[in-house]
Amino acid sequence: MPEKKKFFTFEDLKSGFFEDGTKKFAVLGCPIGHSLSPLMQNAALERIAESDPEFEGAGYFAFEIFPENLREALDILLEKGFLGANLTIPHKVAPLSFLEDVDLYAKSAGACNTLLNDGGKWKAFNTDGFGLEKALQILFEFSAEGRDIFILGAGGAARGAAFWLGRKNPRSLNLSNRSKDRLQSLVSDLRSSGIDCGEFSVSGLKIPENSALINATSIGLGASDGAVADFGKLPKSCVFFDMPYRLVGTTKSVEEARRAGLRAESGLAMLAYQGAKSLEIWTSKQFMGDFMFEILRKI
Ligand code: NAP
Repeated sequence: MPEKKKFFTFEDLKSGFFEDGTKKFAVLGCPIGHSLSPLMQNAALERIAESDPEFEGAGYFAFEIFPENLREALDILLEKGFLGANLTIPHKVAPLSFLEDVDLYAKSAGACNTLLNDGGKWKAFNTDGFGLEKALQILFEFSAEGRDIFILGAGGAARGAAFWLGRKNPRSLNLSNRSKDRLQSLVSDLRSSGIDCGEFSVSGLKIPENSALINATSIGLGASDGAVADFGKLPKSCVFFDMPYRLVGTTKSVEEARRAGLRAESGLAMLAYQGAKSLEIWTSKQFMGDFMFEILRKI
């Protein structure tokens, strides 16, 4: 095993590194240096090792992999005995075109973020929807059933959210996106899988009491990004969940939503709970979501 670095490259992966027999996991993205996943996953692996010696020395490693090297990188991870991998931007969609074993929700969402080494072949899952649902429960005691859900965005994260929450019997599921063609394609995919949904516009947004507004766009990642909605016009009984998160402070949207009296949080809890679900899939150990969220909160 090489010394622990913030992240490794494709060349590192191809070299003689990572050939020992310890339990190994990975996250692949580009860029990847900012990822908080190694921190929370390694803390959880250490916790598991306290009661299971088979996990002594287990490690979760970040790899910066360019899209053209993804397929080969996934093959090398299997050859080197990695037990599981997370995929983050921009790798969540491509593997669906070449992996044969994809779970139903990942297939319908059109994106995967978790791969399990299933006897020498990757099986793909998507834990983002679970992570979002759990974050809404923990942060706001919000459950989708019987409620009105408004999702901003039509990219991978919005698709995951819509397909997951859409199956939880909401009263209504409503979507909005900057590019209309991407929005139409999501709406049409949802309807073909039997999920009823409508569209809304952010300008002049009016939403019912007790709804959830979820930002699944990338607005909020940049320090200078503005707020995604005019929160002053929304009922104070609504909750706002911002998938992007900032390591220092919070997003402008969360700031403004709170100022307007709404309960609002950014994406750290979702990150923790989707990651904990991945770890559960790989190890079959007890779900460690609260522990991993606590690790992230302490940063
Ligand atoms: P993506 O597939 O690239 O989609 C980006 C979305 O943002 C699209 O709907 C895009 O609209 C919209 N967008 C980008 N810039 C915009 C702008 N200036 N104005 C209006 N809309 C804009 O990315 P993704 O994978 O869905 O991720 C979206 C966000 O969710 C990212 O910030 C990511 O970090 C976050 N996320 C967080 C978690 C978590 O665990 N907290 C998990 C997954 C994702 P167009 O279609 O018009 O381009």
